Amino acid sequence: MGTHPAAMTLGRHGHNRAMKDKPAHHAMPQGSSTRLLHADRLGGVEHGALHKPMHTAAAFGYARAADLAAVFQGEQSGYVYARQGNPTGAALEHKISLLERARATACFATGMAAISAVLLALLRQGDHIVCSRYLFGNTASLLQTLAGLGVEVSLVDATQADAVAAALRPQTRMVFVETIANPATQVADLAGIGELCAVAGVLFVVDNTLTTPVLFRPRDVKAGLVVHSLTKAIGGHGNAMGGAVCDTGRFDWSRYPNILPPYRKGDAADWGLLQIRKKGLRDMGGSLRAEDAHRIATGAETLGLRVERSGRNAQAVAEWLERQPQVERVFYPGLPSHAQHERASHLFSGYGSLLSFELRPAVDCFAFLDALQLVILSSHLADNRTLAIPVAHTIFWEMGAERRADMGITDGLIRLSVGIEDEADLIADLDQALPGC
Ligand SMILES: *Cc1c(COP(=O)(O)O)cnc(C)c1O
Repeated sequence: MGTHPAAMTLGRHGHNRAMKDKPAHHAMPQGSSTRLLHADRLGGVEHGALHKPMHTAAAFGYARAADLAAVFQGEQSGYVYARQGNPTGAALEHKISLLERARATACFATGMAAISAVLLALLRQGDHIVCSRYLFGNTASLLQTLAGLGVEVSLVDATQADAVAAALRPQTRMVFVETIANPATQVADLAGIGELCAVAGVLFVVDNTLTTPVLFRPRDVKAGLVVHSLTKAIGGHGNAMGGAVCDTGRFDWSRYPNILPPYRKGDAADWGLLQIRKKGLRDMGGSLRAEDAHRIATGAETLGLRVERSGRNAQAVAEWLERQPQVERVFYPGLPSHAQHERASHLFSGYGSLLSFELRPAVDCFAFLDALQLVILSSHLADNRTLAIPVAHTIFWEMGAERRADMGITDGLIRLSVGIEDEADLIADLDQALPGC
């Protein structure tokens, strides 16, 4: 398959239909929420259904051998085997591209499958990658796997573009950062890093999971690739797993040395994502199920509303926690006390739903968590429900105390992923769980 054939077909049909049915509408610029809500209908969906149907077939048949061969050779758009993509997944890919204003998107079974595909498809032995020291724990663990395969990894403080600049080498192929780091909410110097990557010709990859395209689009700071865990805010309901890799169109793949000969064909703008698809989906098999693609696409329809509501709740909870005598510190980019508050205000149109805080040493962290009645003790984040977790004892346990200290994670740190419940109920639950002082 050439570029993403299904997404291209979708776009082409959508265009034709819109032009024929409602020419005036098409001329009006539309926001990404509007475009996403009408994407399936305008994409020439079967029977006029308002949702793309769930195509659960593993295989796709052809009447003519020449057509089957043409699809295999990337000369014709179509599907062959669901490991390499299915129509329901392609409809979701189209929507993620609308949200990120991306050139094209490939969807995966999980966020980690998407990140693995990027790193394993694009890096080779002897290459060097610069990553933020503040990373999602499993991404950090995956980097150890890469180091074992002969990729050199530098972990730097990505809140300072200078630290990234100092780490660059002639063999540096990629810089990988998260927008807001989990759990201590450090905000990377996204504009500064994007600029220096552009000057150095290095691929800039941004994990936009915590901000979502509603608050921030990495293409605006010159990122070449954007990755997402669709399991989090984009799906939002905690009932499906998925991941995405978006190509913003800002990186010149003709300059990337690791594109294999079969993928150096046609428009160079397609090469990177094509190789990521072939390796990550076809060869490694991290493919998104149609059922999950459907659920994520349904969840994504209300992304804008949910991000606004959970962000408002998170701001209220962060401000309330900061006033409590039992609380030592609160980390939330929306607080003026946050180290990168100004940067977050400048870059993002909101501060997200994740915060973390430390209780005073005298307060028993586990007793506080056990006393919560509404807030759920869970490792997930960006769910509709509010979730809490003691970070050092769980998601960052495996890496050990030294690495945790390096990442700014203390033993008493509690991560709170704020949902869309009623604000007063959340504060009442936290209040009753805090011991009196
Ligand atoms: C959850 C998460 C991932 C991994 O996504 P999964 O869908 O759980 O595999 C990657 N990056 C960030 C920032 C995340 O929060």
